[in-house]
Amino acid sequence: MTSTTPDTRSAPPKAPEQSKRPAVSLRPTKGPSKRSNLFRHRRRGVQILIAALLIAAPFIDLLRFDLVDGVLVLFGMRLGLGTDLWVVYAIVLLGLLWIFGGALIHGRFWCGWICPQTLMSEWATLLETKVRGKSPKKRKHKGRIALYAGTILLASAAIGASTVTYFLTPAQRLAPPLPAWIGFGVMTGLVLANLFFLRHNFCLRACPYGVLLQLVQDPKTLKVELDESERELCISCKACERACFMDVNVRDPDRRFENACLICGLCIDACENVLSRRGGESIIHLRFKQGTKGWPRWLGKIGISDFRRLGLVVVTLAVAGTIGLMLAARTDIDATLTARFDEHAAREPGRTERVYRLAVTNRTQEPARFTLEAGGLEGIRVKEPADVEIAPESEARIRVVLAVPHSDAVKPGAHTIVVRLVGPDKTVAKELTARFFVSAEKQR
Ligand code: SF4
Ligand code: SF4
Repeated sequence: MTSTTPDTRSAPPKAPEQSKRPAVSLRPTKGPSKRSNLFRHRRRGVQILIAALLIAAPFIDLLRFDLVDGVLVLFGMRLGLGTDLWVVYAIVLLGLLWIFGGALIHGRFWCGWICPQTLMSEWATLLETKVRGKSPKKRKHKGRIALYAGTILLASAAIGASTVTYFLTPAQRLAPPLPAWIGFGVMTGLVLANLFFLRHNFCLRACPYGVLLQLVQDPKTLKVELDESERELCISCKACERACFMDVNVRDPDRRFENACLICGLCIDACENVLSRRGGESIIHLRFKQGTKGWPRWLGKIGISDFRRLGLVVVTLAVAGTIGLMLAARTDIDATLTARFDEHAAREPGRTERVYRLAVTNRTQEPARFTLEAGGLEGIRVKEPADVEIAPESEARIRVVLAVPHSDAVKPGAHTIVVRLVGPDKTVAKELTARFFVSAEKQR
């Protein structure tokens, strides 16, 4: 539910407009409107979906880290950190562009609607209110305190266990290794401290991402605001202030602390609930400011109100398209060969030996076997290993030593060599190039 207003920053100041809406009654005259708690319900739906996805993600291979094979599992794809590293980098870049760059357009929408920290904080606050109650007498009741503390402890353990499952293979889930138990203990302790003591204070005062998101916002960013032309309709009930868990006062004409706003819309609901019963409707709105004169209105309506935002969207779409192309170009067998200048092979007289790292990804359901062959330089051969075998759907990182005998045909300097992965049927599955350096000293 967004609307737009013209950007008036550069225009001369105008006298406050008179509201076109009828004045509201000071006493309730009606029941709640259809838009009552609209944001609360929508947000709750999104948060339940996010919570379900976060719990299910490692079990349905939506996202998990296979530390045994060194593979990132994303949407069912196994991305080897050797051969698919660029895809992983591009996906991380896309996430950063959306979360940090996107804050220029939609503010801290991520924090208010999707971030698990907000979800956990709201749930813990709701639990405390429901279980311990509000009156001082109820809050001191030992049974209520025990029930509240026990539920928080169980929830923390469940969140700790859920986090650890992101780093376990399906086989390890039934018998987790020791590091997983340590991770579970640490995570449970952190979540426990968060739910008991921090909650929204973390978002408000400590979250480094929140600070960065605040920095990229500008006056055209999506905002929750009270329109000056409707200020006269405010009955000063302060329901909007009480609804805000981030201590933002949308009625503050100086707009202090507005960057802390998480775009949750709860103050809009609160105002709607109060004024709709008095024959009016919310005077707090969720808005994009319009772009400069001549800027397409349809772009302004979706928050793309200047060239900066347009550039951001174009770059984000370009990165997303590049990821799609990279994924489409992946073959069943993929490999990279990297020279390891920091490792030295055993020195043998009469020849130069160099160490390489061969990363091979097998995306098929069958084991893949290859013989390694080298070429491109007189006498070059693979010293070790002669053959490699890669398990189904996994990536192997193999130390390869190439040897070149000293001869007049091999000049000192850098040479381009090739290494081939040859299958049992003699077909070349992959041909890789690398540089092989022969020093003048070795040639003597
Ligand atoms: S100001 Fe309104 S939208 Fe912003 S965080 Fe507070 S309640 Fe949510
Ligand atoms: S909820 Fe609406 S009417 Fe009440 S103080 Fe806030 S802006 Fe004014």
